Amino acid sequence: MPTLHTMGQQQDRRSWAEPYKIKVVEPLRTTTRAERERAIVAAGYNTFLLRSADVYIDLLTDSGTSAMSDRQWAGMMVGDEAYAGSANYYRLEAAIQKYYGYQYIVPTHQGRGAENLLSQCAIKPGDHVPGNMYFTTTRYHQEHAGATFHDVIIDAAHDTSSLHPFKGDIDLDKLQALIDEVGADKIPYVCMAATVNMAGGQPISMGNARAVRALCDKYGIKIYLDATRAVENALFIQEREDGYADRTLAEILREFCGYSDGATMSGKKDHLVNIGGWLATNDPELFEEARNLVVVYEGLHTYGGMAGRDMEAMAIGIEESIEVDYMKSRVGQIRYLGELLDQWQIPFVKPVGGHAIFLDARAFYPHLQQDHFPAQTLAAELYLDSGIRSMERGIVSAGRNQLTGDHHRPKLELTRLTIPRRVYTQAHMDVVAESVKACYDHREAVTGLNMVYEPKYLRFFQARFERR
Ligand SMILES: *Cc1c(COP(=O)(O)O)cnc(C)c1O
Repeated sequence: MPTLHTMGQQQDRRSWAEPYKIKVVEPLRTTTRAERERAIVAAGYNTFLLRSADVYIDLLTDSGTSAMSDRQWAGMMVGDEAYAGSANYYRLEAAIQKYYGYQYIVPTHQGRGAENLLSQCAIKPGDHVPGNMYFTTTRYHQEHAGATFHDVIIDAAHDTSSLHPFKGDIDLDKLQALIDEVGADKIPYVCMAATVNMAGGQPISMGNARAVRALCDKYGIKIYLDATRAVENALFIQEREDGYADRTLAEILREFCGYSDGATMSGKKDHLVNIGGWLATNDPELFEEARNLVVVYEGLHTYGGMAGRDMEAMAIGIEESIEVDYMKSRVGQIRYLGELLDQWQIPFVKPVGGHAIFLDARAFYPHLQQDHFPAQTLAAELYLDSGIRSMERGIVSAGRNQLTGDHHRPKLELTRLTIPRRVYTQAHMDVVAESVKACYDHREAVTGLNMVYEPKYLRFFQARFERR
């Protein structure tokens, strides 16, 4: 296994300048501390409820926030807005088949549309779905369809200081134990995520994907990939896994996807577009059912909630995302931010992942109990300091246990600084690092939050808080 020093962090410092230049700019607005005080109180201390006009550098999410290329914008002009059989759909289908290798494609309005279709088609009440850590919308749809989710990620994923190069790996013993406990016939599929978002954007190795396939084959269990950031994952495999240094990202992606039976995709991430998603499968029966269901929830099976022009931009974005210079600059920008924070010994999840820096809010505020929402608090403090918007990935995002009604209490209590693709510069990263440091310097004065409004579903989006 390569160590952190051989993982391209130092050597690549001089070579990852962005492989593009800026053609159109959007002015940023700065605010005063008094304006930010008013805004965060009005938003109930929830960064999801801020107006973007009140935000300076927006690191809420990398979802749908990418800057499109001139080629993609040109593609928007050749949108074929026919209700049925749009030419752009066939371009998109061909791009997915070529780069991801799946046979059948069902377009959806975004990733959760695909998750809904897959869950409804594949899950029966009483089923069990194992996965390498949960994702919010993914688990919601699995549970809504009647399944129980089981986290089978390796223990290192829950340890913010572990330097394991593939913290997204599935623990085969945990998976085997679940199969033994509930029986293979109660497991419709393993939900395997590439660069596990909730673990800090941590990759899964090719070797692990291959081993999970072998185990599942023994029991006839399918594997569905959450392919949302699978190209980012391919870069980590190229950098860190023996035997892949000379393989292209496209080759790595094809092999990786080849260990699964299908995938759900949020095009708003890797595909460099602002909206869209898809479900893919090699199973003709599941395809039949999903293609039937898509007309109920999304739209006809040749647009699934996307405009023709959006499908064209997505097809072009797929090709651009697979270029190694682009991907190196994408991940390199996040590593740069990590190196700045490291200089000041600010606690965050290591190794640096593919799409974000995840600040360790437990270590940031050791004096706060988890029930006083340290990660939510840190997101609010960062906004107050500089107008930078981040988001909570901790106890609020984890929601409640459906049986006991108590909070899920995840080990990871993180505040995510998510970097949009091709949007911000290195100077913006400097400003972000300085603001995190300012919050770190006055961390002891911080007292946490109380939740005063809690929505029933995916509460982190709309929950409201007050200062303690
Ligand atoms: C964003 C995301 C989803 C859901 O996709 P949407 O397009 O937001 O509906 C699913 N899985 C992962 C890992 C994601 O990051």
